Amino acid sequence: MIQAKGYAAQTPETDLAPWSFERREVGPHDIQIEIQYCGVCHSDLHQIKNDWFPGVFPMVPGHEIVGKIVKVGDHVKNFKVGDLAGIGCMVDSCQVCENCQEGLEQYCLEGNTQTYNNLDRSGVPTYGGYSNTIVAREEFVLHISDKLSLAATAPLLCAGITTYSPLRHWKVGKGHKLAVVGLGGLGHMAVKFGVAFGAEVTVLSTSASKEAAAKELGAHHFVVTTDKEQVKAVRNKFDFILDTVSAVHDIDMYQSMLRVNGVQIGVGVPPAKLEVAPFSLIGGRRSLAGSGIGGIQETQEMLDFCAEHNIVSDIELIDIKDITAAYERMLKGDVRYRFVIDIATLK
Ligand code: NAP
Ligand code: ZN
Repeated sequence: MIQAKGYAAQTPETDLAPWSFERREVGPHDIQIEIQYCGVCHSDLHQIKNDWFPGVFPMVPGHEIVGKIVKVGDHVKNFKVGDLAGIGCMVDSCQVCENCQEGLEQYCLEGNTQTYNNLDRSGVPTYGGYSNTIVAREEFVLHISDKLSLAATAPLLCAGITTYSPLRHWKVGKGHKLAVVGLGGLGHMAVKFGVAFGAEVTVLSTSASKEAAAKELGAHHFVVTTDKEQVKAVRNKFDFILDTVSAVHDIDMYQSMLRVNGVQIGVGVPPAKLEVAPFSLIGGRRSLAGSGIGGIQETQEMLDFCAEHNIVSDIELIDIKDITAAYERMLKGDVRYRFVIDIATLK
């Protein structure tokens, strides 16, 4: 076994703390990465707190992983030692069901294996990227360009693909009015992609203080959603709303901002059910949809698109010992726009 060290939550009630554990040996189809940076996703916080379902503890979070390959199995075809590589939210899936065959491993009919807080297909717990090393099968490892800042590339592995995929699926682009709800890790990537795809982008935020920064990211308009007049002014306005909110919120208010045939795409995963009034949908043939991360091929396409268009995340690099303070700031919406752990601080 490979000795690994990281930060783990031992229970949902305890803060993350240093923890040593084991990874499997590198099998014929596996790759071992020495992790250099790992992004901090709001999903990490949801999961260590059991917001969604009872988790697998001890839990080492982290699914925005980048680093250097230090070992490859004998049958690995597309990577070599020394390459930059990344791992996102999944490390395995059945590979044969109709969804996997279509490159939609995130919707694997047998369930994909999540990078952490999951049992792998042989029943062993998976541990994420708040750690110094990881082993995964080749099919779930991504090529990372050396053209971009490596630390700022890490959040593309989740925040990037989770916003890129629905915008591509619904073909959001020129001539569309796109609104992005919540200017956090996912939201700021949605703004960058929306602008890159040619849409007219509005940020719908609860934080008036983020207006100037939103415009710097390329957003064309900014609406403070706690201001009734501003909300009224954007009724029936948008073709698409990408909703990244992590807490329970008022779906009907956002639905009222959609034009006829408008689609609100939820990617945020609040800890409780969301309600919608039937009239919100019926009153404009509107839709409420959802989207989960993205498949492996599409994640590579997104990474290549970012390398070509010089798109990375806006990050604040942190020492791993400051992770609990970073979570507290994230909960308050006080992050511009993604914390990334410098794994060198784990030593
Ligand atoms: P984040 O950085 O904390 O951003 C969330 C933003 O939502 C906040 O910055 C805030 O923006 C806004 N917000 C928070 N509470 C709100 C409230 N009560 N009402 C309205 N807006 C509120 O989180 P993140 O990492 O981007 O993740 C966002 C959500 O996506 C999380 O639930 C996460 O688990 C989920 N997620 C889903 C997928 C998927 O595959 N679908 C993948 C990754 C993450 P403002 O200050 O601008 O209002
Ligand atoms: Zn995530």
